[in-house]
Amino acid sequence: MTVFDRLFADSGLSQLQEKDARDPLAHKRAEFKLPEGVIYLDGNSLGALPLSVPARLARVAEEEWGGQLIRSWTANAEAAQDWMNLPDRVAARIAPLIGAQPQEVAVGDSTSVNLFKLLAAALHMAAPERRIILTDADNFPTDLYMAQGLNALLGGRYELRRVPGAELEANLTDEVALTLLTEVDYRTGRKLDLAGLTAKAQQRGILTIWDLAHSAGAFPVDLKGAGADFAVGCGYKYLNGGPGAPSFLFVAERHHGSAPAFLSGWMGHADPFEMARDFTPAPGARRYVVGTPTVLSLSALDAALEVFADVDMGQLRAKSLSLTDTFIELMEPLTARYPLKLVTPRNHAERGSQVSYQHPQAQQVMHKLIERGVLGDFRTPDILRFGFTPLYHSHADVWRAVQGIKTVLEEGGEA
Ligand SMILES: *Cc1c(COP(=O)(O)O)cnc(C)c1O
Repeated sequence: MTVFDRLFADSGLSQLQEKDARDPLAHKRAEFKLPEGVIYLDGNSLGALPLSVPARLARVAEEEWGGQLIRSWTANAEAAQDWMNLPDRVAARIAPLIGAQPQEVAVGDSTSVNLFKLLAAALHMAAPERRIILTDADNFPTDLYMAQGLNALLGGRYELRRVPGAELEANLTDEVALTLLTEVDYRTGRKLDLAGLTAKAQQRGILTIWDLAHSAGAFPVDLKGAGADFAVGCGYKYLNGGPGAPSFLFVAERHHGSAPAFLSGWMGHADPFEMARDFTPAPGARRYVVGTPTVLSLSALDAALEVFADVDMGQLRAKSLSLTDTFIELMEPLTARYPLKLVTPRNHAERGSQVSYQHPQAQQVMHKLIERGVLGDFRTPDILRFGFTPLYHSHADVWRAVQGIKTVLEEGGEA
């Protein structure tokens, strides 16, 4: 017990510690660097550093770049250490986390840029009379901005229709070309029914693009089972690939013959070193790798993904729900006493791996929490957001975080 625990050892902690003792994922925490005295509830924004990453980066810099120099592009291909196929190797690690086959995944660029690639491909594939891009009114800004920018390039042909999450289904009409939806809302943590909405969209001939920024690595995703068309996701959130890590995209195999790559760069060519004058796409999703792979950041992501190799994603989901249930339950007395309002669904099927509350002074409250070592996020205008990462959080961490929140609210005069 730390001094902090003893100070607050009023109730519940020992029961939670018993749960932690039975946690099949408890050993994963040792694979991360986590600073002392901090409860890091922001892995949904920037995942913590896996311990294998610094050594990998040093090796890539000193041996591969410093020693092998340009030969590293093709050297050691048989040992799967060549840079050329690094994007494909990282794609193969991400594929099982999202229910995809390796050749359906491409890795590189930011999520925003990958959204552009897929929006352009999907709009080209949709019937020309369909003029609506349907999205959630509360979708993440970059998703909306990328659609707006592409639509401007296309002469404003499309209407970006933004509706509240509850009205999405009713808006799946014959005029809709595609849906652009984020499975887990970044503010509230509300999880949409990816499989259900995909099936309903397909019944009406609508293509689907799913943003998995807060899904991949947070719980099992089954794109194949859902029959999804397209998806994108982040490398630096629950996949722990480091700041600005490359993003991934998914294109269902049935579209490989028809989905065009309009950002047709040489690294997406079937044979880049043929130096042909015309673009012939590489088979599968590799055609969406545009320019020279970002070897340093891809190497960090590649090493970071090793932590998932022995993780049962069903166990990960069960622990995530147990952590978020525990947090919601421990916060209950505080919501009765202070102007805190839970905005995350209590229903498991509608919850991602974060819990959010509205509070009128959310920004000041989060500022004080961070000073106390409880690191969450403030999201405008009034959201306190806490992300839970089953690979490195315990139930005791949840308890300690709530004690910190309690102290800040008691001291604060924010009531
Ligand atoms: C974090 C996030 C992004 C990030 O996009 P980048 O281009 O990688 O900065 C995109 N979409 C959603 C839903 C996100 O949460």
